[in-house]
Amino acid sequence: MDSERWIRLEERYTCGVYTKHPVVLVRGAGTRVWDADGREYVDCATGHGVALLGHGHPRVLEAIREQSERLMTCSEAFYNDRRAELEAELISLAPWARRVFLCNSGAEAVEAAIKFARLVTGRPGVVAARNGFHGRTMGALSATWRPEYRRPFEPLVPGFVHVPYNRPEPLEEAIGPQTAAVILEVVQGEGGVHVGDGTFLRRAQDLCRQRGALLIVDEIQTGLGRTGRMLACEHYGLEPDIVCLAKGLGGGLPMGAVLLGERVGQLPPAVHGSTFGGNPLACAAALAVLRTLREERLPEQAAELGDFFLERLKGLRSPLVREVRGLGLMVGVELRRRARPYIRALVQRGVLALPAGPLVVRFLPPLTIAREDLEFVVRRLEEALAEPVEEEGAD
Ligand SMILES: *Cc1c(COP(=O)(O)O)cnc(C)c1O
Repeated sequence: MDSERWIRLEERYTCGVYTKHPVVLVRGAGTRVWDADGREYVDCATGHGVALLGHGHPRVLEAIREQSERLMTCSEAFYNDRRAELEAELISLAPWARRVFLCNSGAEAVEAAIKFARLVTGRPGVVAARNGFHGRTMGALSATWRPEYRRPFEPLVPGFVHVPYNRPEPLEEAIGPQTAAVILEVVQGEGGVHVGDGTFLRRAQDLCRQRGALLIVDEIQTGLGRTGRMLACEHYGLEPDIVCLAKGLGGGLPMGAVLLGERVGQLPPAVHGSTFGGNPLACAAALAVLRTLREERLPEQAAELGDFFLERLKGLRSPLVREVRGLGLMVGVELRRRARPYIRALVQRGVLALPAGPLVVRFLPPLTIAREDLEFVVRRLEEALAEPVEEEGAD
């Protein structure tokens, strides 16, 4: 079997920081991916929510092909046509957005957001939420909650505190005269698919305004139609000062962006930068993604499909299911047991899904997925939950 060969080769040389399924993915088209032995999967993992338009979307492919032949690299020491167009398109995502910083990943977008907040306010403090996830670089990790991710790397960046998510009082106590920013997700993704409460999020925004701190909303996972709105902030009428985007933005190419509101304004030269940030290839791909999302009304479609999917999942009659929750096509099924073995069982049945913390099976399908495929996913999950699966150790 071809798969075994590739697995052996990767296992020999990969550094080991990832837990992998014994599956070698070699091809994708739309909502499907195939492994090296020709097995087909419905992709509800989408590279952690990257393939918003599915795999190999013709508009993204054409944009990448065309731009790769013209100009792939152009640092921000120069202007560029594609970058200019993309920046305008990004600003049009939100009425409050004024300026943008381009980078190459989610963690980099969060790093930039934290640096800008400290710079603009002249304060060091950052308030983040328990169960929040913001990335693995030192600054982003300082905002991330999970102790297993943080502890081996301490001391982290000073000035970070964590408060319970969705509870206004502790947040109110945590924001002080040294707080530069509050950073929150609208739906906590890696932390277990916890949907933010509108009252809590709006209170966070009010408190930031009253006390001279900035509100950073991490929309790296929730953004770009995933939750049924272009930005998840729209569900609650939020107008943050900074929004971080990444994951699906580059259509599969690495890309991040930071949207900046009026209170951040224009930044002084040389305070931050990135070699690959704003490269024309990623900009061309992102432009194709944003235009396709808008023209094909994919956020609206995600809202409808998400309602359908949630309703079907809530209909599952399994004693193992503790709760089904989500917003749009960001959906989690919390189990009464560890989720990993059930995710494995799903993969064996032709469905790729993700964990979100130890107990949650998370689905991040392409926004273009068909209802029949969602039905297929629900049936496979039902089967997986009905089969006895072996318990395993560490998550
Ligand atoms: C994935 C994710 C990140 C980190 O993105 P990377 O590209 O892996 O650095 C940060 N915040 C949220 C909410 C995410 O889902």
